[in-house]
Amino acid sequence: MTNILVTGGAGYIGSHACKALAAAGYTPVTYDNLVTGWQDAVKFGPFERGDLLDRDRLDEVFAKHQPAAVMHFAALSQVGEAMSQPGRYWANNVTGSLNLIEAATAAGCLNFVFSSTCATYGDHDNVVLDENTPQHPLNAYGASKRAIEDILRDFEAAHGLKHVIFRYFNVAGADPEGEVGEFHRPETHLVPLMLDAIDGKRDALTVFGTDYDTPDGTCIRDYVHVCDLVDAHVLGLKWLEHDKGSRVFNLGTGSGFSVMEVIERSKSVTNREVPYNIGPRRAGDCTKLVSGSTRAEAELGWKPGRSTLQTMISDAWRWHQNGHYDR
Ligand code: UDP
Repeated sequence: MTNILVTGGAGYIGSHACKALAAAGYTPVTYDNLVTGWQDAVKFGPFERGDLLDRDRLDEVFAKHQPAAVMHFAALSQVGEAMSQPGRYWANNVTGSLNLIEAATAAGCLNFVFSSTCATYGDHDNVVLDENTPQHPLNAYGASKRAIEDILRDFEAAHGLKHVIFRYFNVAGADPEGEVGEFHRPETHLVPLMLDAIDGKRDALTVFGTDYDTPDGTCIRDYVHVCDLVDAHVLGLKWLEHDKGSRVFNLGTGSGFSVMEVIERSKSVTNREVPYNIGPRRAGDCTKLVSGSTRAEAELGWKPGRSTLQTMISDAWRWHQNGHYDR
């Protein structure tokens, strides 16, 4: 079996990636410090607890498991927190990733799949974003991810580190079989917060701003089902295995939905009211982030078959009602 080192494998996207890797015949080795991840979510391969800032521990794990590739999900990823604590984002995301990239290179593990973000683009006046759109991030989260992309390019030039960079749009939904799902503490993401508000697990949702330059005044995002997203990662791994070279792919469907449209769809999926109130804008939010590219579909053969709002919300709702993690 081929080992793949999955940083952040105990988190939302990483745990779904581990499931997809196992289904494709790989052994996912999770490396996670459990600061935002859940040990319960590690179900599909070995677990190595460790921090990206701990280079000795990384070297030990590379030596023990001899991974053929790295999938790097571990990161701090909240826009609001990135605005108020930028230092944490630069230290954890950039210094942590640099350690990982150096450890991988030193171990001769030269295939690297990286989770980047559409937040690296920033605001572009309502245009759809393709991989060549200039990157002008509005917050330290996006800026830290852009910096890591630059590090990967430098390490390719110097050390031959081949990489696939995925710039995610908004990830939602959950494993339809309910083995893993989305569970953050604290939760900051729209869909799980809304589902909590629907069944009274928390107060009403606050809509962050209704004065954006969009048809209903709320921000527009391109939502992708987590299972589709991780399928792209397996395709990205195969891309590297076939020596196709380093490449950047947007992972979005090209369909944007406003916060109000997500609320409306959640009402019809759950058959319940969504309690919400209107609040001010959240610092660091872009007006519209929609992928304008079909590169992943054309070149990787990616088929995002579950990424309708209907399926994403109903899969998230099923997990919300039945699933949870303990540490
Ligand atoms: N949002 C909102 N209320 C919330 C959380 C999010 O109105 O309590 C909005 C947010 O402003 C953005 C969209 O929902 O336009 C998606 O936000 P999320 O935090 O889920 O993902 P992000 O876009 O930050 O990656």
